[in-house]
Amino acid sequence: MSLPFQFHPGVLLDLRYTLLAISGLFGGPVAAAAPFVVAVGRRVMSGGTGLSVALPLIFMATASGLIAHRFIRGIPDGRSICVVSLAVVFSGTAGFFVKVPFDQWPVVMPSVVAPFALLLFVSAMISSFAISQELKRQEATTLNRIYRAIIEALPDCLNAKDLKGRFIAANPATAALMSSGTAANLIGKTDFDFFPQETARVFRADEEALLRDGKPILIEQRFTRADGVETWLATLKAPFDDDDGKPIGMITHNREITDRKRLESELAQTQRHLADALASMADGLAMFDRKGAQVFNNARYLELFPLTADVRSTGTCLRAIIRAAIERGEEAPVGGDIDDIIERSAAAILSPGDRQMRLADGRWIEARTRVTEEGGSLIVFSDITTSKRTEEELRTLNERLKVMAHTDGLTGLLNRRAFDEALDDLVSRSSQTVAGPSLLMIDVDKFKAYNDTYGHPVGDACLKRVANRVAEIVASYPRSIVARYGGEEIAVIIPQCDKAAALSVARLLCAQVRSMEIEHVGSEKGRVTVSVGIATMNAAGVRGKRDLLGSADEALYAAKAAGRDCVRSCDPSDDAAVVRA
Ligand code: GH3
Ligand code: MG
Ligand code: MG
Repeated sequence: MSLPFQFHPGVLLDLRYTLLAISGLFGGPVAAAAPFVVAVGRRVMSGGTGLSVALPLIFMATASGLIAHRFIRGIPDGRSICVVSLAVVFSGTAGFFVKVPFDQWPVVMPSVVAPFALLLFVSAMISSFAISQELKRQEATTLNRIYRAIIEALPDCLNAKDLKGRFIAANPATAALMSSGTAANLIGKTDFDFFPQETARVFRADEEALLRDGKPILIEQRFTRADGVETWLATLKAPFDDDDGKPIGMITHNREITDRKRLESELAQTQRHLADALASMADGLAMFDRKGAQVFNNARYLELFPLTADVRSTGTCLRAIIRAAIERGEEAPVGGDIDDIIERSAAAILSPGDRQMRLADGRWIEARTRVTEEGGSLIVFSDITTSKRTEEELRTLNERLKVMAHTDGLTGLLNRRAFDEALDDLVSRSSQTVAGPSLLMIDVDKFKAYNDTYGHPVGDACLKRVANRVAEIVASYPRSIVARYGGEEIAVIIPQCDKAAALSVARLLCAQVRSMEIEHVGSEKGRVTVSVGIATMNAAGVRGKRDLLGSADEALYAAKAAGRDCVRSCDPSDDAAVVRA
């Protein structure tokens, strides 16, 4: 291009401006540098008067290409090429306007300048288009290679089919899925050549729907492989058209999602099991977030609180639930400021621990709270009314058993065992110097004869009456103890009671029984009477429990010997104390 040629008789020209501009346009500064230096050098060596005009034009042609290169991204389009070509025309022809005298312009312009300008423009345009076409071809080849490499290496299946469902392109992953060996083996074949007929029919129906609607579809497809393994695919199918917009086939992208589907199904099953377990739980379950808003509950929870079931929904604050429970009378009323009560109850229920509450309808509910990882509270509500009642019944039973173990069944007095324990206790705590406690041994006179006369059941009733009367009288003495000592014998212990006091109580007892006037024909007294023997600790040489019991027994014996219905003490000087009916 830089070689001069005779353009017009006597006019030598060259196409260096085209060369300079397209070097800059396509190659940038590095490519433009060599022709620029050569062009400047040659022009300087040629010398002559046109040098001062030619050099700026060489620069301008080069600059026009470089500027376009700088601002055009990628391969230049027709417009850029046209602009650069015009710059080439300007660079190549501007010298004529400067050097040719004005009067010669009418001759030179049409004969030389205009054809040369056209030549420059056409040469720049053709060269540029040729180079840009080549660049586009190279780019397409490179891109094609890249796409092919990507498609080949893609683990997902990618393939193209014609309108009849025949493979026209496929990558190795598709071949692996279809078990066809190589991708080439697929070409020209359809799904019917690889899948069971029923499966292939379903796949083909999807393709026909796609071609009918003309819109890409995203579907999940299930099929059974040749080796019997059930497989799931996530499939994208898109139609593709020719240049006139007529559909000519479809592209399919498959990704195997068997593992994901299996996990989804396992998750769904686990969730179903969990939901079933929660629904059929005997306990109520509720979960609250860290702010106290309810986030989850099971059905049993609502059944436990029927009056407030409507407010116990997701999102409701526990405080609002407690308020409703108090206002609707579900929770037992408590005195005090309602806001305080609500605040305290909410804080207690949300903090970890076990607590029991009694509802207004008498049911007992246990709330067991545990803190979750997110800082919320998981609460299990159990109806413990039955176990609470059983617990109460057990406690009552235990108390009754305890009483029974210490009570005489016939008379209701303490039994012999309780008497022994009480006497041990009193004696161990009694002082060595102060008289007391005193023991009174009471025995019904001639009771065998009573039984013989009136029968045993009447004897029982009589014994009961006598015991009651004794207990009534003794009850007025603080901490006194009345027990059935055995048979028709009753023992009385009165703490802090000296001999004199004991004598007067014994006389009173004798008199009271006598005054009951229970008929007793078997006795010379004609009525039921008792004899009483008394002994007092620390009096008349009585020391210790054995002494006390022995002395009282002796005194009773003495009373019997003295004719019954009387009182005797272990001290013989008390004989004057005999009381007779
Ligand atoms: P004494 O005046 O000497 O005490 O004569 P007694 O008949 O009362 O004396 P004894 O010890 O010989 O008899 C006591 C009787 O008390 C014998 C028994 O039948 C009767 N007895 C003992 N325990 C009971 C009881 O629980 N119910 C009845 N009905 N009788 C009893
Ligand atoms: Mg008796
Ligand atoms: Mg007796």
